[in-house]
Amino acid sequence: SLEKRIQELEVRQQQYPEVTFLTYKDRKRILVTGGAGFVGSHLVDRLMLEGHEVIVADNFFTGRKRNIEHWIGHENFELINHDIVNPLYIEVDEIYHLASPASPSHYMYNPVKTIKVNTMGTINMLGLARRVRARLLFASTSEVYGDPEVHPQKETYFGNVNPFGPRSCYDESKRVAEATCYAYAKQEGISIRIARIFNTYGPRMHMNDGRVVSNFILQALQNEPITVYGHGKQTRSFQYVSDLVDGLISLMNSNYSMPMNLGNPDEYTIEQFAFKIKDLVGSNAPVVYKDPVVDDPKQRRPDITLAKFWLNWEPKVLINDGLKKTIAYFRNELLVKHHSERN
Ligand code: NAD
Ligand code: UDP
Ligand code: UDP
Repeated sequence: SLEKRIQELEVRQQQYPEVTFLTYKDRKRILVTGGAGFVGSHLVDRLMLEGHEVIVADNFFTGRKRNIEHWIGHENFELINHDIVNPLYIEVDEIYHLASPASPSHYMYNPVKTIKVNTMGTINMLGLARRVRARLLFASTSEVYGDPEVHPQKETYFGNVNPFGPRSCYDESKRVAEATCYAYAKQEGISIRIARIFNTYGPRMHMNDGRVVSNFILQALQNEPITVYGHGKQTRSFQYVSDLVDGLISLMNSNYSMPMNLGNPDEYTIEQFAFKIKDLVGSNAPVVYKDPVVDDPKQRRPDITLAKFWLNWEPKVLINDGLKKTIAYFRNELLVKHHSERN
């Protein structure tokens, strides 16, 4: 009954004061591709808490049921085990299209598949958007700027991407996906949103995805050498996942249809970052220097002027706070792993 729903909303609003809850008429049917992954599962949490109907399509390549299992059985939630390289016929109002491996080790593991996901998969999601007249938000990446010669990176920078190297399967297919979104918008009148996401971290990152945040934290926690690739003077700027989720939802609901950077401009050299994590963990692990990575971007920091202006958005979580939460998450993951290995 309506009265019961309003009561439920009030209770939830008290539990989660930062979330704006919906009345029935604002509720949408929302597809999240890649919703069992790191970013996708946090987005699903927020959309579910807001009271939407959420459908996750995921093939569990890098995602895990564990990330969303708390919603399984909820009347507003549906999980489809589906590879988006194949067509998908469902009825939705909005599509957050996140399905794609994201960490270099994952996207290089099967480069052909990475290209298929971002090209054929994106065409399928745009075809779906076209049939049901849904708005589609595409999770693009700062990698479209390649090894940038312009710093910080503005959306108007065309990038410096090697079309042939080991990262090209990801960088170039994300660029094609942006071009495809643009083509569908122009030719078919599809409403699109393009988020160029910069390095994001937080709980539910994969243990073994080889990214710098997970590697350094796990190494520091286990007192193993902290592996800096190359001289460590390359830079990255790290955004906490809840800030990204805020940005994605604001962008989807905005009137801005050109590419938009979503990231935290807080920039560190990788060497500085190694010592920062070591300190926060309170670890005795040594910092060691390994071979450099091919085509590793030398610097990366978002210019977020557009997002500030159009979305009134900027990251809120300070690096030390975000890292502490992430360290706590990995500490617990290690305990769980240790426990299950003993049994
Ligand atoms: P993730 O690997 O945790 O999540 C990706 C999800 O997509 C996983 O659940 C995976 O199983 C699913 N998936 C992969 N291929 C699929 C397919 N063919 N069909 C259906 N599902 C498939 O990665 P993430 O960090 O959550 O990234 C989400 C999106 O954001 C990706 O598109 C990524 O390119 C983009 N992005 C992420 C970052 C970051 O720092 N995390 C930075 C830039 C862009
Ligand atoms: N598609 C899909 N779900 C839909 C509609 C389309 O997966 O609800 C796929 C379909 O397989 C097609 C692609 O999206 O290959 C592009 O669709 P579009 O309508 O643009 O092109 P066409 O069907 O003419 O190839
Ligand atoms: N990196 C590192 N040690 C690691 C993992 C990564 O020094 O154990 C470096 C990597 O070479 C790059 C930066 O950290 O310069 C970020 O790497 P990541 O794979 O997290 O993401 P990218 O931004 O390259 O996609």
